[in-house]
Amino acid sequence: MKLSVFWFRRDLRLLDNTALHHALSSNLPVLPLFIFDENILDELPKEDSRVSFIYNTLRSLNKQLSSFNTSLLCLKGDPVKVWKNLLSHYDVARVFINKDYEPYALQRDESVKSLLNQYGIPLHSFKDHVIFEENEIVKQDGSPYTIFTPYKKKWLQAYPSNSFAPLNEAKFNQFHTFTSPMPTLKELGFQSSSIKVRDYDLSHLQQYDSKRDYPAEDVTSYLSPHLRFGTVSIRKIIEDLQPEQEVFLSELIWREFFMQILFHFPQVVNQNFKPKYNGIQWRNNEQEFEKWCQGKTGYPLVDAGMRQLNTTGYMHNRVRMVTASFLCKHLLIDWRWGEAYFAKKLLDYELSSNNGNWQWAAGTGCDAAPYFRVFNPTEQLRKFDRSMQYTRKWVPEFDTPDYPSPIVEHKFARTRALESYKKGLIL
Ligand code: FAD
Repeated sequence: MKLSVFWFRRDLRLLDNTALHHALSSNLPVLPLFIFDENILDELPKEDSRVSFIYNTLRSLNKQLSSFNTSLLCLKGDPVKVWKNLLSHYDVARVFINKDYEPYALQRDESVKSLLNQYGIPLHSFKDHVIFEENEIVKQDGSPYTIFTPYKKKWLQAYPSNSFAPLNEAKFNQFHTFTSPMPTLKELGFQSSSIKVRDYDLSHLQQYDSKRDYPAEDVTSYLSPHLRFGTVSIRKIIEDLQPEQEVFLSELIWREFFMQILFHFPQVVNQNFKPKYNGIQWRNNEQEFEKWCQGKTGYPLVDAGMRQLNTTGYMHNRVRMVTASFLCKHLLIDWRWGEAYFAKKLLDYELSSNNGNWQWAAGTGCDAAPYFRVFNPTEQLRKFDRSMQYTRKWVPEFDTPDYPSPIVEHKFARTRALESYKKGLIL
């Protein structure tokens, strides 16, 4: 029997899923597929909270699919090899995917596309996890924006004239009827993580504008892992926003801004966006890095953030900015070290946002904080966690003799950072 295949990747939902919607309209039974990609999994520890989240989400998807007399076909391996094998078992007529713009994903999809080509099978790919993709918001001459404000302006101008109505009425009776057992997490080589992704919460958005910078207020949405893995549709989230929620919308536009930066400037994965910073002499002291990772720098807000990250896989945005700045400026440790640590720990790890924000904090990024802006972590604490409610939660011993003294004195570190940056700048 001829089939269409819908390949789930970072779009783990049935509703308002663009490529799935098109697959179900293709007049062929649809086989839903997920591939645990060994090229990604082999790099991860056995207990990884993201893998657990993906796995649990797939189980729930499989349950939903069972009510349409179908199953999720869950396979593991190198995607090209998995596809080769699949094509020898099924008569696949068409394949549907939602686009993924990360460098590895682009290359993976290119390889799968050429394999499918050899069999004469078309690969239909769709925009799904952004409102505007890489070449839709560009300057008049077609070149990409590298500064956020004009990008956002153009984005906001373009939004109303486009139709983003969520696609709810997909034909779910069009699935291929079959059952396939889900592998267990253990069979996939992993164990369940105690760190869980919490549900997103949009109930505090009225206060977002005034309170989002105060970690103890806890008014942010916790949308990030859901957007990362597509358990929610970005179209639906934005469609439901009120006009006065523009500050929140702005954050969602930052997400797309960094995605198009990564697409157009893939070298940022390993290099400074601005090469004039290539001459900075990072100190890269390993013991200091370790203390930063463990939340033992003697700066309570920095330590609170790192401990929140280590314990929950999440860190409040203001505190991410403070911890990142502290690593790059106070300790003069290469932003790539911090970026890699966040990548290991964050439930919402997203290459484009993580890289973009780390380069922002280090001053090396496209629209970055100027290098001479060095956050004072004590001032940041006074300003954003005055009552120390957030900090006390994560660093209960902060005012006892057990708490370490500061790893480096602020004024000294500030001067050292400014001198090193100035010296390293290639003008
Ligand atoms: P909210 O404040 O409710 O924001 C809503 C959504 O807007 C977020 O879910 C996210 O999709 C987007 N958003 C918000 N702030 C930013 C931002 N500065 N840049 C890009 N998108 C943003 N975000 C990630 O999703 N993945 C990362 O790997 C990541 N790494 C970061 C590293 C550093 C050093 C810094 C300073 C920020 C990083 N961020 C990252 C951005 C931001 O901290 C998180 O998106 C946010 O804290 C997630 O919590 P929330 O969903 O409650 O955010």
